Amino acid sequence: MSILCFHTVEPEWDRTLALTPEAFDETCRWLARWRRVVPLEEAVASLDRRYRPTGRRTAITFDDGWTGVADHAWPILQRHGLPMTLFVIADSLRDGEIDFSWVDNPPDAPLRTMALDQLRALHDEGVTIGSHSMSHADLRTLDEADCVRDLRESRELLSDAFGESIDTLAYPKGDHNDLVRRCAERAGYRWAFSLPERREAVGPMAIPRVGVYPGNSNRTLFAKTRSRYLDARLHPRWPS
Ligand SMILES: [Zn+2]
Repeated sequence: MSILCFHTVEPEWDRTLALTPEAFDETCRWLARWRRVVPLEEAVASLDRRYRPTGRRTAITFDDGWTGVADHAWPILQRHGLPMTLFVIADSLRDGEIDFSWVDNPPDAPLRTMALDQLRALHDEGVTIGSHSMSHADLRTLDEADCVRDLRESRELLSDAFGESIDTLAYPKGDHNDLVRRCAERAGYRWAFSLPERREAVGPMAIPRVGVYPGNSNRTLFAKTRSRYLDARLHPRWPS
């Protein structure tokens, strides 16, 4: 099966990043009925040779930490009894303006990520937290020292904020290369998650996820949660 990647749930956004509450509710109902939705940690513990969860296991992850997760996604997940992991941009824990210029096709509504108290409330209710880097920069554009610093500082900041060791990372937009994966390992992560759109390496520092987007029907969801969906995109081993 596959690990799923969502971004947010908003009634007003009709864009790539957001599902409507109705669509997400339908998605959750389908997943609860036809898949075994487990905490990310449990999905990772079951990975096969190609780094896909086995059995009917799937896991739900959200990237970026948009306010729609607290307002809409989490209440719906709770209603269906489904666990989630949230990958947080560490800069959103600090005061000040956040640069959202990396958002493609932004909605008309203002972009808002959750503040620390909102994130802590979700964490207290059982949401698992991971890192989504410091500021959502394309990690491939940083040199080695800066990349390790970004990933290490974001990990430490989040670990301090949530009082536990944060050891999972989702690469911004899923983008990574050899150097980025090495940096993630040096920065202390155990598992890092990608979002393959073409054929790419898999490993503990590049566990593939599948994005779910507006308009994806249950039939699409059926295909996307099956291991076979990722087959064409994965190398069983690192390319040499
Ligand atoms: Zn992101």
